[in-house]
Amino acid sequence: MTKINENFIKLPGSYLFTNIAKKVDAYVDANPGKKIIKMGIGDVTRPLAPAVIEAMNKAVDEMGTYEGFHGYGPEQGYEFLRKLIVENDYKDLGIETDEVFVSDGAKSDCGNIGDIFAADNKVAVCDPVYTVYVDTNVMSGRAGELGDDGKWSNLVYMPCTSENSFIPELPKEKVDIIYLCYPNNPTGTALTKEQLKVWVDYAKENDAVILFDGAYEAFITESNVPHSIFEIDGAKEVAVEFRSFSKTAGFTGNRCAYTVIPKTVKVGGVELNKLWLRRQCTKFNGVPYVVQRGAAAVYSDEGKKQVRETIEYYLENAKIIKIFGKDL
Ligand SMILES: *Cc1c(COP(=O)(O)O)cnc(C)c1O
Repeated sequence: MTKINENFIKLPGSYLFTNIAKKVDAYVDANPGKKIIKMGIGDVTRPLAPAVIEAMNKAVDEMGTYEGFHGYGPEQGYEFLRKLIVENDYKDLGIETDEVFVSDGAKSDCGNIGDIFAADNKVAVCDPVYTVYVDTNVMSGRAGELGDDGKWSNLVYMPCTSENSFIPELPKEKVDIIYLCYPNNPTGTALTKEQLKVWVDYAKENDAVILFDGAYEAFITESNVPHSIFEIDGAKEVAVEFRSFSKTAGFTGNRCAYTVIPKTVKVGGVELNKLWLRRQCTKFNGVPYVVQRGAAAVYSDEGKKQVRETIEYYLENAKIIKIFGKDL
């Protein structure tokens, strides 16, 4: 008889954002005429940069020719894009092109990375947290049981509250895998180099791995906030980093991201880079050529300028929310 993965049954049916939508509807009904700024699940609001569109159009035309047609590409992503990522986003950090894995999303990668870790690892997450880290660990049987307080019995929660300025403290019990997201979704906080170093040191001392989600890297404005965890001494032995073109360049509907796994990150003597490559080659067939050409255009002079302008626009929105949100 067929058996399902029972872990899926453990997941609560009502998804967080459905609940929020219900609460918003109820509030609107009870308070007609009140203006609402929705800060739950969102999307980018500006279209793709002209440089990206131009590159994608050109790539589409190539696809219609014998010389320019691209079929199955390398699972890890085209070399032209991985080179640009290394040269631009990891300049002087000693990251190599075969340590970069291009994918269809940081969401997929953050979720799928669990494939390469054993089920009995102890996982730590911030609270509140981007739900993908928690739910994917539930699916793979790493989270235990859901308590009445909404917490999973095997997960270690690190509270991020106004009392600790939304900066998590090191877990009291020993953990093996730590998810960190900075700049943070949902709290908006960032960690300085000194603050992030505490986590890298912890991971080194405890043989733990840090899964670092840098989806909002492009919004960093302060000079003491690292753009990559690999700016921290020792991180190349203990960290995996996820990045995405979604928030950086409005690729939410275009789908392109990448994960960086230095070959020096080893668990029990095994390179995580090798395991991830094996996993991706088996379960993933790469991002479309046209999309990767679009992503490459983000690194052109024009692309950089255009993408920057959009980021500034969103940062201005954030400022407005901060100022006027107080009066709501
Ligand atoms: C939006 C978001 C992602 C997902 O990015 P995609 O590349 O579009 O899948 C990953 N992590 C966090 C924290 C996000 O907010």
